[in-house]
Amino acid sequence: MTQYVFFFGGGKADGNKDMKDVLGGKGAGLAEMTNAGVPVPPGFTISTQACNAYYASGGKLPGEVDQQMDAALAKLEGLQGKKLGDASDPLLVSVRSGSKFSMPGMMDTILNLGMNDRSVEGLKTKTGNARFAKDSYRRFIQMYGNVVLGIEKDKFEHELSAVKAKHKAKTDVELGEKALDEVIARYKAVVEKDTHHPFPQDARQQLVGARDAVFKSWMNPRAITYRKLNDIPHDLGTAVNVQTMVFGNMGDSSATGVGFTRNPSTGAREFYGEFLQNAQGEDVVSGVRTPQPISELQKVMPKAYQQLREITTRLERHYKDVQDFEFTIQENTLYMLQTRNGKRTGLAAINIAVDMCEEGLLTKKEALMKVEPQALDQLLHPIFDPKARKGVEVAAKGLPASPGAATGAIVFTADEAVAWAQKGKRVLLVRMETVPDDIHGMSVAQGVLTATGGMTSHAAVVGRQMGKPSVVGCGALDINAKAHTLKVGGKTLREGDSISIDGSTGEVILKALPTSASEVIQVVEGRLQPEQSPIYQKFEKLLGWADEVRRLGIRANADVPKDAKVAFGFGARGIGLCRTEHMFFGAERLPHVVKMILAAARGQRGIDLTRRLKERLKEAKGGQAAEIKKELAKVEKEYGKHVKDYTTALKKLEPMQKADFMGLFKEMHGSPVTIRTLDPPLHEFLPKREELMVEIATLKAKRGSKSTIAAKEKLLRAVEELHEFNPMLGHRGCRLGITYPEITRMQARAIFEAALAVAKKGIPVKPEVMIPLVGHVEELKRQKAIVLEAAREVLGASGSGVDFLVGTMIEVPRGAVTADEIAKEAEFFSFGTNDLTQMGFGLSRDDASKFLLYYQEHGLIERDPFITIDAAGVGLLVKTGVQKGRSVKKDLKIGVCGEHGGDPASIRFFHEVGLDYVSCSPYRVPIARLAAAQAQLEGSASD
Ligand code: PEP
Ligand code: MG
Repeated sequence: MTQYVFFFGGGKADGNKDMKDVLGGKGAGLAEMTNAGVPVPPGFTISTQACNAYYASGGKLPGEVDQQMDAALAKLEGLQGKKLGDASDPLLVSVRSGSKFSMPGMMDTILNLGMNDRSVEGLKTKTGNARFAKDSYRRFIQMYGNVVLGIEKDKFEHELSAVKAKHKAKTDVELGEKALDEVIARYKAVVEKDTHHPFPQDARQQLVGARDAVFKSWMNPRAITYRKLNDIPHDLGTAVNVQTMVFGNMGDSSATGVGFTRNPSTGAREFYGEFLQNAQGEDVVSGVRTPQPISELQKVMPKAYQQLREITTRLERHYKDVQDFEFTIQENTLYMLQTRNGKRTGLAAINIAVDMCEEGLLTKKEALMKVEPQALDQLLHPIFDPKARKGVEVAAKGLPASPGAATGAIVFTADEAVAWAQKGKRVLLVRMETVPDDIHGMSVAQGVLTATGGMTSHAAVVGRQMGKPSVVGCGALDINAKAHTLKVGGKTLREGDSISIDGSTGEVILKALPTSASEVIQVVEGRLQPEQSPIYQKFEKLLGWADEVRRLGIRANADVPKDAKVAFGFGARGIGLCRTEHMFFGAERLPHVVKMILAAARGQRGIDLTRRLKERLKEAKGGQAAEIKKELAKVEKEYGKHVKDYTTALKKLEPMQKADFMGLFKEMHGSPVTIRTLDPPLHEFLPKREELMVEIATLKAKRGSKSTIAAKEKLLRAVEELHEFNPMLGHRGCRLGITYPEITRMQARAIFEAALAVAKKGIPVKPEVMIPLVGHVEELKRQKAIVLEAAREVLGASGSGVDFLVGTMIEVPRGAVTADEIAKEAEFFSFGTNDLTQMGFGLSRDDASKFLLYYQEHGLIERDPFITIDAAGVGLLVKTGVQKGRSVKKDLKIGVCGEHGGDPASIRFFHEVGLDYVSCSPYRVPIARLAAAQAQLEGSASD
């Protein structure tokens, strides 16, 4: 029989911390804490399997779930000596969701379950606190009515406001027993009117309703959006935790709160959190009341505070991670409601991992596994430009919930944020408090600003997780979402006005401020000394540990010296791809590139014909020579001008390319530099056909200069000649170098000239010439011959001490499956997984997003294969290429330079299939270093 229900209580639990798949994070935590002797209110967890069974059978649960739940409930009642719904001393429970990965606020929670017309009286007598009992009941009806019965919150709020007005009460707390009775009666009427049934009085029926509602909430739209944003699979399901209620709202000796064992925003080693006296948990997290810092608890309840410190420190040691905990103090007795590994910003993640290692809590390897590679990205976020920031007035200050500087136009709803962002505007979402429904707006906003809520409110938690700069609990804001206005610091702002927030200090500034690079970037770019930046030092320390364990080399894709410098600063040791064509777009180069293209076909033909005729001339006898000379003269007449244009343009480009390559070699300080010969279809360098046609027509209409019109018409003819129906599969890659070998020759010469010049300065160089888009070994063979010829011309027979390699990209499926043939000619391989995905999957790189999104939303594929390598398909091509290549050359150097080289999941794959290095954009180098180390650690753990 499947066990669906797991009990915890009385110092023992059925589950433990390793059962997150079955019990969800919260359930596993409760079980583990119970086993560890931490005071946890007892209860039971209904497993994620029950949730999945519920969906599999269209909203029904297997009979065993009910049976096991009833047995667990009976056990709980026995342990507590109370019965659910009892008239004299009722047991009350909370019912909460809890999936494997925490999804704050995304699913439903119900508190005070078991309240009914009879048990409310029992609770009143037992506690001697009528107000408390009645308030608990009215809260329960409201929550149950909304979550389980689907009645809009406003309908209850409306009644509450009406009673408050009638009794002239400003706050809920001012409502006495009588008034609360009135609220209860009105709430019950709302339920009856809306559902045509009275509010359910049967406690078990309540429990079943709540349980099923939690299961249903797994598939509510906001939970689905959250999972998509966080890459959480939809088939995990949620568990349901049914737990004895304890009350933080039983007077001033009671409290409820949340906290972290370290600061989740900065990582500082400080006990961190907040609490509310005489309140229920919901009040803290919903952000409705602004709570007090946890240090205040020491003053009001010193004993409970000490115990909380002791327990949470123990939990941090036990889990070897920062704990995010919830607690309730009921009449001076402390209960732990939840503990889990705390979410944190990228900044905090690095600080915590390094600190914990230095405190001896973690080994270096464990510390490396604690940081999500992607989180490193947050440290590269901009900060306000210090000069611009100086002297600017701060209009208000809130809590610094998620670091980073943000500037944008204010909007007041999530939908508006999305609408503005779609129009390309940078927006800042301003809300009273954010709710889970706002998540789509938060994800497109530059930052989030709220008027209420603490450091653990929704906006704060989600903001941190998204790496969104957020300022919360900024009480000075007067927001009128309906009127689309924000009053602050004596000014009234309207939707669209620009403001700035600093998520690291909590400051709000009423103007747009320029932002500048993060500290880490400043160090990497040489604008700040490493000693001046503690965070850079920790960042580098952690990545240094990563370098000690990783097997994969890390290179960068960089085309210009500036990017190469950044990449080197980030720890790249080599350039895996220099796309030479990017240099062709420079303003001073493009005219020569265009000339080269216009002359290429005829110019190349002229060169080829001349060469062939000259060879024949050498062997010509008698009258043949005169004949050949005549032909040569004809060729010269027909093609001479084109040859000249072609070679002149190439000659102009050669020194420019040489200068670029010299810069790259210098910045890489002797690490390999892979330079790819020209790759894109030539028409990319020319103006668009339609634009030219319009220009010509306009010139003609305005009687423009004849020579300009003629030149444009010539260009148009070239564009039309170069037109291809399928340029991505057309005249590009090595096909260009094969048909226009002079281009390859010029590029190869520039590479060797640059290498020689730099080597002469005493700087070691390692050029690697890479031929793109090879699908047939013969293509590589011919291009390689040209490269070797250029090397001989430039370096001489001795090679002048410049060691270089000639290799190929493997990015055409045929190249991958004939890699054994190709390896005979190649000194290295580099997988071009962008094209390999395009051609292997048959998906156009430029158009696929239109339907790939649909594929993802409808579950056909889990991830975009242009972001994460499709291991089963395209990955198999990579694997085959590696095996075949190395079957010919055992030590063949193999890397990857497609976008996947910077994606952690893909990096794991490349590690597993035995690549030597990954190459990615400079800013992803830190991510790649850490991901490569994690791949190694995960691999060795499973060996
Ligand atoms: C590739 O195809 O993966 C690659 C790196 O080349 P490009 O993106 O320039 O086509
Ligand atoms: Mg490519």
